[in-house]
Amino acid sequence: MPELPEVEVTRRRLVPFLVERTILRVDTTKDSYFFLTKPTELKRRLSGRKVVALTRQGKYLLAELDDATRLLLHLGMTGQLFSSAAKSVRLFSAKTRGSLPAEALPEFKADAHTHLSLHFTDGGPSVLFRDVRKFGKVALLRAGKADARLDRLGVDALAATGGDLYQAARKRKIPIKSLLLDQSVIAGIGNIYADEALFLAEVRPTRSAARVTARECEAIVRGAQRVMQRSIETGGSSISDYVSPDGSDGGYQKERKVYARKSEPCIVCDTPIKRVVIATRSTHFCPTCQP
Ligand SMILES: [Zn+2]
Repeated sequence: MPELPEVEVTRRRLVPFLVERTILRVDTTKDSYFFLTKPTELKRRLSGRKVVALTRQGKYLLAELDDATRLLLHLGMTGQLFSSAAKSVRLFSAKTRGSLPAEALPEFKADAHTHLSLHFTDGGPSVLFRDVRKFGKVALLRAGKADARLDRLGVDALAATGGDLYQAARKRKIPIKSLLLDQSVIAGIGNIYADEALFLAEVRPTRSAARVTARECEAIVRGAQRVMQRSIETGGSSISDYVSPDGSDGGYQKERKVYARKSEPCIVCDTPIKRVVIATRSTHFCPTCQP
């Protein structure tokens, strides 16, 4: 599932393809649970609108339009948001891939899973939202209207402080890992980065949140920001279906210290990394470094 760094990388790379461009026409697939705003309404209200900014709140992207409405985009589990100029081998079927040298890959053409295509008045590349499993979401938010999905988000993970986490952790008996994944406390920390942050802070994920000190909360939040910033710099993790808007692969997955390293030696002390399940989420830690 794309996490905050992948969404932020998507945002940064999509800015040149979206901002300051005027939408000419919108193509969609037929109405489904993917569309929180009906396709007919999207087509009608987006045509002629200029995108003035692309911002992010937690894992939501918001294309701000010149009439003060906002197009909310959420990648869900398998969403891919990219420009039609992208030439990623991962966008093509194995058959197509195998038959073409990388430099000869054609431009991507919208397929049955491309639920939203934005075409622009300048005739340049389109912006496509493709999602095989359709857990992604698209909604057009009216000017000045609050949105429950955005309102329930806590402070953004890249702006959070140790104090934000410490305040929320008081009297909470749930595992610290579960609290880190609670988007109403800190928005944007997902499973991978929670495990990595707890490793850097030397805190065991199963420990009761109420028993984590202020100093440890500081280290956890700093650790989460460090790994997420690093992930953003390296282009995000190339996980499952995530693809960055310009089609390049992410490089962060090579740098993980505990996540998905079950039974491999800890990079600090050689103890085999343990895997447990906390609130249905796969969790990794070093039993020695994280007492
Ligand atoms: Zn260790």
